[in-house]
Amino acid sequence: MASITRALRPLSRTTPSARLASKRLATVRPVQSAYAFSTTTRRQEADLSELTPTPISHLSETETMMADMVSKFASEQIGPKVRDMDEAETMDPSVVEGLFEQGVMGIEIPEEFGGAGMNFTAAIVAIEELARIDPSVSVMVDVHNTLVNTAIMKYGDAQAHRTWLPKLSTGTVGSFCLSEPVSGSDAFALQTKAEKTADGYKINGSKMWITNAMESGIFIVFANLNPSAGYKGITAFIVEKGTPGFSIAKKEKKLGIRASSTCVLNFDDVVIPKSNILGEEGKGYKIAIEILNEGRIGIAAQMTGLALGAWEHAARYVWNDRKQFGQLIGEFQGMQHQIAQAYTEIAAARALVYNAARKKEAGQDFVKDAAMAKLYASQVAGRVAGSAVEWMGGMGFVREGIAEKMFRDSKIGAIYEGTSNIQLQTIAKMLQKQYTN
Ligand SMILES: Cc1cc2nc3c(=O)[nH]c(=O)nc-3n(C[C@H](O)[C@H](O)[C@H](O)COP(=O)(O)OP(=O)(O)OC[C@H]3O[C@@H](n4cnc5c(N)ncnc54)[C@H](O)[C@@H]3O)c2cc1C
Repeated sequence: MASITRALRPLSRTTPSARLASKRLATVRPVQSAYAFSTTTRRQEADLSELTPTPISHLSETETMMADMVSKFASEQIGPKVRDMDEAETMDPSVVEGLFEQGVMGIEIPEEFGGAGMNFTAAIVAIEELARIDPSVSVMVDVHNTLVNTAIMKYGDAQAHRTWLPKLSTGTVGSFCLSEPVSGSDAFALQTKAEKTADGYKINGSKMWITNAMESGIFIVFANLNPSAGYKGITAFIVEKGTPGFSIAKKEKKLGIRASSTCVLNFDDVVIPKSNILGEEGKGYKIAIEILNEGRIGIAAQMTGLALGAWEHAARYVWNDRKQFGQLIGEFQGMQHQIAQAYTEIAAARALVYNAARKKEAGQDFVKDAAMAKLYASQVAGRVAGSAVEWMGGMGFVREGIAEKMFRDSKIGAIYEGTSNIQLQTIAKMLQKQYTN
């Protein structure tokens, strides 16, 4: 409980969010056991067999407080900046600062390292709430928490924890650098090389499409230390911004999530100390696979939040603002059926997301669930955001509201952290294994 108090403290200084959170809590069913929705650190001990099943959409008290806090921060502090950030294709630094102040950049990082010490689902609801307002801010928080923080918590030793986690939870953004010009879906065909030096490693190569690169100070970089061993030579390293030889070569101009920076990085004889290895030599491929399996649930949450944000924007318009033929356009049955269908699909996507998150927290196999959640949520986001534009007619197409932006932003869900085809491949492979005699 101390952790959420800590997470809420900065906001409660400036807004009445804690009061709002406690009001909403009154309507939430009590958690049925101390570890019903255990924190990551407790999950190994959790015995789920005694639990009475609860609805999959049920959130614990602390998760509900996180959702309320982030929702309020997003609508009050990010909302007014969304259009300008998209037009300028830049993340407002005050938004990044605010995210750190709110405690959402170290959601799962233990309190002793400056984090909020919360569970994975708390991160998922934060990502979802942010995407309702701005999917660009959401992906920044997603990559930072579910890829970078998680990789260091899971694979870093005690020294790595002491070195990097306090920075990541209090002021330094992180990036996860796997993709390269020649390796996207075929990630382990990467060409970036590492070699051993007397007291560390030297990295040479290029990375492409790296999220958060403009804002980041810490980069997890995958490079091959032993190309003759193929993917078994891939190793993860930590490179800090400002290290000689490291540079941002290009910032991409994109269709959507334009406030989120996506960059090409160059590594020219970048020398790092021995202690900057993450995990063991040759185990980078394993780290990448395991971290991306979890990360996919975050992207699924982003797409679910995006779909809801687009739906809410259009629903308010058709049920309050726009009249044709003498009545609100949302009163036509032809519109109502589409709106109801879209909402149902969002609820189904959210159920897949929360189910995958709970299975991960419970230490169960969640790989297929994560792939299904990401696949379906990105399909729903595309459909709903597209429909929202149409429901708003001309007003959906112009840049006054957020409908056209949500539509553009939705496209990325089927591409990063494994394309939709790759998710289908994962799902099919696991099903085939299960159903092969
Ligand atoms: C905005 C943005 C942010 C990103 N952020 C990051 C980041 O932070 N870190 C990072 O490392 N990467 C990042 N990426 C890279 C992203 O993960 C890749 O773009 C993605 O994995 C797809 O790779 P690709 O673009 O090379 O597409 P390709 O692999 O070339 O795929 C193109 C098409 O071929 C299909 N295809 C490929 N292989 C198969 C197959 N075996 N079976 C069926 N179909 C197949 C794909 O599904 C897709 O439709 C980002 C990308 C973007 C656009």
